[in-house]
Amino acid sequence: MLVHSFESMGARDGEGIRFIVFLSGCPLRCVYCHNPDTQERMGREYSPEEIVKKALRYKPYFKEGGGVTFSGGEPLLQSKEIVKTAELLKEKDIGYVLDTSLATPLTDSVKGAIEGADMILADLKFSNIEMMKEYTSGTLAHTLKALEFIKSINKRFILRTVVVPGINDREKVLEEYIPLVNNFTPKCWELLPFHTMGFFKYEEKGIDNPLKDTPALEIKRLNELKDYLREKTTVVIK
Ligand code: SF4
Repeated sequence: MLVHSFESMGARDGEGIRFIVFLSGCPLRCVYCHNPDTQERMGREYSPEEIVKKALRYKPYFKEGGGVTFSGGEPLLQSKEIVKTAELLKEKDIGYVLDTSLATPLTDSVKGAIEGADMILADLKFSNIEMMKEYTSGTLAHTLKALEFIKSINKRFILRTVVVPGINDREKVLEEYIPLVNNFTPKCWELLPFHTMGFFKYEEKGIDNPLKDTPALEIKRLNELKDYLREKTTVVIK
């Protein structure tokens, strides 16, 4: 698989201590992307055996649900490689989480990668086709189809939405996500504040940053929005 980078001993993107594999390549081009350096298919090829060997170093720390997280970029672009690696991880009793936009067609290998995961961290970027089109290059239909599949196999998953000032940081806009959230019934819906910590990557890579004048979302405002939405759904909002 084509890897952008690794993060050992990560404490986010899944439960417990994580060994995070950031895979290269993402077709979405979200305007708020904080990992623009992972969008291009650049990096180093690793065999499944090499990934497992690296993960094994951290196995003693994989307690309370810890394990490998495949992130990116969009990891499901490399679903075949994930499936192969997952077989070897399983032999070593190591589980994995997928951190994904679900914005790829639901092929057999994508289904396989989803089925084998302990949990899915799934982006629900926008609730309608128009916003998805305006702020990403993705297709909402792919995400919804994959979420239907996840629901049909009863896979544990969390929905995640980045809240961006001037784009979706209004009650009325976020309220439109509620029917989808209620339909899919995730373990929880995480609202993540837009931040500017990845801006330096745009500068380093000479990539145009469409939100360079957008400030980070204030936590106070995020909490107000969460409180508002909690009155509209029984799904846990974090
Ligand atoms: S899906 Fe993630 S990696 Fe891809 S462009 Fe969007 S934010 Fe960036």
